[in-house]
Amino acid sequence: MSKGKNRFIHADLSRCLSCKSCELACGLAHAGYEIEGAAAGQMKLKPRVSVVQQGTTVVLTQCRQCEDAPCVKVCPNGSLYQEEGLVKLNRETCIGCKLCARACPFGSITMTTEMVERADGKKSNRTKALKCDLCFSRNKEIKAEGCACIQACPTKVLSLSL
Ligand code: SF4
Ligand code: SF4
Repeated sequence: MSKGKNRFIHADLSRCLSCKSCELACGLAHAGYEIEGAAAGQMKLKPRVSVVQQGTTVVLTQCRQCEDAPCVKVCPNGSLYQEEGLVKLNRETCIGCKLCARACPFGSITMTTEMVERADGKKSNRTKALKCDLCFSRNKEIKAEGCACIQACPTKVLSLSL
């Protein structure tokens, strides 16, 4: 497992409006939809960032791309791994055991259900992990201009660490 300085989304929550624009942008970007298409198709979006407000406290549950990542350590089959400055997830091999979600100290991994085709040709629901990948899967590189959440935030709460 390669280790090193991983980049991550930094949040200055003192300016956060709890508008959830980042959540919406993340869900749309990874689903490959514009908002009109998602609404028309009643798409259930799966954002990899979530904003939680409790009274006056706002918390962003987004992956910190840990350098010594607990989620990578507990994954039984290497579906989570470190590469190119972030913690990546291979959803194809994920068996949905939820160990990573329990190990993450920041609640940054969610479990989602998707329809897959089984070996016998029938379809069934499978649970898989989901986490922020700094939009690497969309851009094939890590850059602030490519991160949907950073671009969507109206008060510029989010930025990409150096
Ligand atoms: S999912 Fe959690 S444990 Fe894994 S790298 Fe992100 S913040 Fe760290
Ligand atoms: S749910 Fe998937 S990614 Fe998470 S520990 Fe299990 S196999 Fe690894």
